[in-house]
Amino acid sequence: MAGRWAEIRRTASPAELYTLLYALPKGGDLHNHLGGAGLPEWWYAVATDPKRNGGQTFYTRTRILNAGPSGIDWRGRNIDTVYWVTIRESAWKKLAPAVREEFKPLGALTPAEKQEWLDAVRLDRPGEGRDEFFEFTWVRLNHLVQDAHAVPEILVENMKAFAAEGVRYLELQAPAFGMSDPDGRVLPGDEMAARYEARLAQPDAQATGVTVRFLGNVLRFAPTAEAEVRRMYAFLAAHPARWVGINMGGREDNDKGFPLRFLNVYREMRRQHPGIGISIHAGEVDEPNAHVRDTLLLGATRIGHGYNLITDPDTMLLMRHSRFMVEINLISNQLLEYAADIQAHPFPEYLRTGIPVALNTDDRGMWDSNMTDEYYTAVREFGLTWAETVQLGRTSLEFAFVPADTKARLLAEYERDVAAFAVRFGGADWREALKAVKPATYGYAARKWQLRFN
Ligand SMILES: [Zn+2]
Repeated sequence: MAGRWAEIRRTASPAELYTLLYALPKGGDLHNHLGGAGLPEWWYAVATDPKRNGGQTFYTRTRILNAGPSGIDWRGRNIDTVYWVTIRESAWKKLAPAVREEFKPLGALTPAEKQEWLDAVRLDRPGEGRDEFFEFTWVRLNHLVQDAHAVPEILVENMKAFAAEGVRYLELQAPAFGMSDPDGRVLPGDEMAARYEARLAQPDAQATGVTVRFLGNVLRFAPTAEAEVRRMYAFLAAHPARWVGINMGGREDNDKGFPLRFLNVYREMRRQHPGIGISIHAGEVDEPNAHVRDTLLLGATRIGHGYNLITDPDTMLLMRHSRFMVEINLISNQLLEYAADIQAHPFPEYLRTGIPVALNTDDRGMWDSNMTDEYYTAVREFGLTWAETVQLGRTSLEFAFVPADTKARLLAEYERDVAAFAVRFGGADWREALKAVKPATYGYAARKWQLRFN
């Protein structure tokens, strides 16, 4: 396949290369925030379908009347001047009548309003960088990303879409705490875990054949973050079959969340709990620093982003040919302007100096993208060989937080699928073979490369 791969890269049209990469087996997605993984159209469909959302109506703010405080917040922040904030019916009913007038049922939006809502929960315009993402996009989804019915639906939509593009393993950062029912009741973590299990047991989820595991995520800069780490460890230890590790996220230019703040609490947790995987966001920041090294010291074996690892030579050397990996997020790093020019991204340097790397989607719903977009970016921008491309998927599975027998099965299935792919597309008639592949593309591919197949 190596020779054919080089020929295809040289001669394929963009649409042909994209189609081939859509069909490529891709291993696992290890860095994926479930709340950020819902395509806007999926959220809209779930929010307006009472059979899928526990029988509720969701409302969104279409006007600002300054009719008094709504009491609707996002993590304690006043968001009364933000358009398209989405709330559930039980919260809407508690508003003063004059404040209710700001909101409309999602299902009653005009076509133009619906389009505005969809565009408000994805980064689709130049200049919408990290402030739009961190400070507004999540805020607008609001009760949807906290909804104990809607989020499991988004999980299964992801399983279906990822399965169709050859992703066989998902390790999602899934919300366990703070999730709530239509009446606003907050579910204990154990009850939310049971909700996920019930949805995963449904035939449509099972039919995807995708293996799913969860990571708990702690918001790193919160004043109570150490207590959250303790609470998360206890939860993970109680649900080891599905919940396999811990992550910490939250914007790193907020220096309240620096890694070494957590050294004591991770050591304390290690005294009590064996076998919890640790993957932590680090180096997703513009400034050079040693946060990747500090994060390895916390016990992490996987680093989310590792964008500024390139500024820390000693840690780069430490990670070469090591048991530590970097979870690369090419589209996220572009859209949030860490690598506005993708050619400045350190990914090829890590890959080609032997630092274990794999491609991931991060918050693909908000990028309006998929895993094929990540591979297309990597292959097109950095001219990946066949061996390099296949190694990405293999690395993702080698570093998955699953027991050895599950890992062996996933790796064997991956090698089998890669071999079948090589047979299918390795001949001189590869163009003919491509005709049977029907890629699904979203807004990112359309805007970035004018690629749209559906
Ligand atoms: Zn992330």
